[in-house]
Amino acid sequence: MAESIPDLAVKLGIPPEQLALTIETYNSHCLQNHDGEFAKAPEYLNKIEKKNFYAVTSSFRVFTTLGGLQIDRHTRVLNRDGEIIEGLYAGGNCSGGMYGSDYSILTCGGALGYAVYSGLTAGKNSAEYIKGINP
Ligand SMILES: Cc1cc2nc3c(=O)[nH]c(=O)nc-3n(C[C@H](O)[C@H](O)[C@H](O)COP(=O)(O)OP(=O)(O)OC[C@H]3O[C@@H](n4cnc5c(N)ncnc54)[C@H](O)[C@@H]3O)c2cc1C
Repeated sequence: MAESIPDLAVKLGIPPEQLALTIETYNSHCLQNHDGEFAKAPEYLNKIEKKNFYAVTSSFRVFTTLGGLQIDRHTRVLNRDGEIIEGLYAGGNCSGGMYGSDYSILTCGGALGYAVYSGLTAGKNSAEYIKGINP
């Protein structure tokens, strides 16, 4: 925590001019209500201007993947035209369509439940495919 941006930069051990420039650029995004740099949603673009200034460690975490192979209800993988790719099955994070563009951390067990159900189904169906039983 510091009362000014240069003081905060010194505490963090980073060049004060660079931190000032970074914040200036970010604040200009806030004024334009558009972040062309990192695509931060406009509703979260709040200017950094009032003391005190705080620095926190932030890191990236991956919970699940969005997108992936499109499958039908039998876990058969579909091509770009929505046609079944013979003999190819997918489930869990390999398969897409469960979540759209966002992942809700409030849906307890949603991703794991889907992984278990779709993985089991894909495994069963692929074994049946090999044995010549449909699907
Ligand atoms: C920190 C964290 C917290 C989470 N909390 C929750 C939660 O509270 N509730 C919830 O529902 N979901 C949660 N999730 C999400 C959930 O864990 C995943 O969506 C789910 O585990 C995906 O299952 P999966 O079987 O598709 O993939 P994975 O669990 O990733 O399994 C894929 C497996 O394939 C193996 N593998 C990879 N490449 C190869 C290869 N070439 N050959 C052989 N094996 C390979 C990997 O080692 C791995 O064992 C959390 C995820 C994380 C990371």
